[in-house]
Amino acid sequence: MRESPRNVKRFEKLSTYELVNFDDLDPEEQTAVLAARQQQRLSTEETYKVGACAISEDGKMAAVWNRVPGPDGHAEQFALRELYPQIPRGVEKKLKLLAIAGARPGEEVVRKSTPYDANVALEQIEWMRPCAKCLEYLHDRTANVEDVEILSLAATGQVIRTSLRSLLPTPHTSKSVRLEYSGQSANPGIDKNGK
Ligand SMILES: [Zn+2]
Repeated sequence: MRESPRNVKRFEKLSTYELVNFDDLDPEEQTAVLAARQQQRLSTEETYKVGACAISEDGKMAAVWNRVPGPDGHAEQFALRELYPQIPRGVEKKLKLLAIAGARPGEEVVRKSTPYDANVALEQIEWMRPCAKCLEYLHDRTANVEDVEILSLAATGQVIRTSLRSLLPTPHTSKSVRLEYSGQSANPGIDKNGK
């Protein structure tokens, strides 16, 4: 980045990524990662095979693979689309976590036998990150929670644990999609009366 003169305000937002051994995840996280991997193996998509598992605050779960070729066929979006209708009327649709596993055709998601050690740099870790379109899609539909845990299975079988707001620190905020709430505003910060 170029050196800033004094009248330029620089914003530095921190993102958090953790490298976690599978065994150190809690049972719900393990279930989600395993379900995402299982779905990944079912994918018949030709360019990239992805599985995703979404879990809501009230314990509902949806696991899918990317079924439709092209930009709208992403598993992350399908998982949310299948999760929310399962949540009963009157219960707020809150996404708690999303696990993903992705690899190219002919490639195993877990393909390295030696785990990364504590000195590994984030850039050296092979893991699948949700694309920008999926991050926006998720952001637009999760305005009612502070953050969403994101788990991604890495090439060693370890897991990257991060969050939606870490992966998308500066979303488009003008397009919050209204969810069917039982009364509360989708965006509690600003209501119609400007309060
Ligand atoms: Zn995507």
